[in-house]
Amino acid sequence: MAQQTWSGPLVFNRDTINRMVEPNRIGAYVLLRYDDQSTPWYYVGRSDTDLQRRLLQHFDNGEPYSKFWFRYETCVRDAFFAECYAWHDYKDNGTNLDNTIHPDTPSGSVRIHCPVCNE
Ligand SMILES: [Zn+2]
Repeated sequence: MAQQTWSGPLVFNRDTINRMVEPNRIGAYVLLRYDDQSTPWYYVGRSDTDLQRRLLQHFDNGEPYSKFWFRYETCVRDAFFAECYAWHDYKDNGTNLDNTIHPDTPSGSVRIHCPVCNE
């Protein structure tokens, strides 16, 4: 995952998310699940407002992930970049991704382009 510092893997449950992820922090995350054939699947995402709340949303939706990683960023642009690097690391290596669509650019007046593919 590029030369970035991620926290994890952590157990994906409410207690761990509440204990390990501070509220109101911008950041990126990766979720991991295993299907019936024990094949790993990943989901790469970010939150531009509240990483903890976004992770809890995934959990409350009953999504079958068992582990997660996360990293704080200090601005929306850096969170987008971290998400792009992680997403491309998986996607470009043929790893199973639950979110196959390229990460959304942050909303704002200045269009930010992906640092990997320039999309
Ligand atoms: Zn890209």
